[in-house]
Amino acid sequence: MSQYRRPLFVGNWKMNCLKKDGLKLAQTLANDMKKIPEPDFDLVICPQFTLLSAIETIISNSNIKLGAQNCHAENKGPYTGDVSSLMVAEVGCSYVIVGHADQRINHGETNSEVKEKAYAVYNSKMIPIICIGETREEYDDGLTFEVIKNQLSKSLPTKGVTGSNTVIAYEPIWAIGTGLTPTLEHVQAVHSLIRTELTNVLGDNCSNTLRILYGGSLNSKNAKNLLLLDDVDGGLIGSASLDSLEFLKIAKSSV
Ligand code: PEP
Repeated sequence: MSQYRRPLFVGNWKMNCLKKDGLKLAQTLANDMKKIPEPDFDLVICPQFTLLSAIETIISNSNIKLGAQNCHAENKGPYTGDVSSLMVAEVGCSYVIVGHADQRINHGETNSEVKEKAYAVYNSKMIPIICIGETREEYDDGLTFEVIKNQLSKSLPTKGVTGSNTVIAYEPIWAIGTGLTPTLEHVQAVHSLIRTELTNVLGDNCSNTLRILYGGSLNSKNAKNLLLLDDVDGGLIGSASLDSLEFLKIAKSSV
C-alpha cells in the first residue's frame, strides 16, 4: 500500500444472488458504509447484469460504486447474449471487470479481446479492471513472471491509459475460490513486476498512481498482511464479498 494510491476493494459477486438476496446485501453494505462518512478506501460491487439497475437505486446515495462483471467490445449489434459497455454505463456502472479468469477459461477470452473490451470501457467513460494471472501449472513450472508480462502487454490498451482510468488485478488462477493464497513474497514480486512493466511503457506518473489489486481467496484473516505489501493497492474479492461484514472487514484492514 502506498500513499500515492487510494485502496480499492471490488466485490465480484459472480453468478450469485437472486434479487431478494442481492438487494439485501447491497442495502446492508450501503447502511454500513453510511456509518463511515469519509472512508479511506473506495468500494465497488459487481453484481450480475440483471441486478445492476435495482442495486444502482439502492447505492446511489452512498459512497459505493457499481461495476459490471464483463462487457462486449462492440457498442451494439448482432451479439446474442452479450451486453455492451454503453449498456452497463447507462444503468450506473463506473467500473467493468475484463479478462477475469472465468471468462478466459469458460469462454475462451483472449488477451486481444480483453484489450478491445478495455477500450470499449474507456469509450463509455468507465474504468476497466483488467485481470491477469497464471495457472497452477505455470506457477509450478516457474513461469509466472513470463506469463504475467505476456498477458499484461497484450491485454493492456496501448493508448489512453492513465493512473486513474485503469485498474489491474493480479489473480493467480489457482488461488481463485480455492482457499489457497501465494506467499507474500510471491505476491509482492508479481505486483512489483507489473508496476515496473507499467513504468516502462507508461512512465512513472502513471505507474505510481495506477492501482494494482490482488485477488484470490482474500478474506479478513489474510487481508492485513497482503495489503501491507508495497505494491498491493486493494483487492478483487469473490466469495468473501457476498458477506457484507467480511467484505468491509477486508476493506477496513487497509487503513
Ligand atoms: C474472483 O472471482 O475474482 C475471486 C478472487 O474469487 P475468490 O475471492 O472467491 O477467490
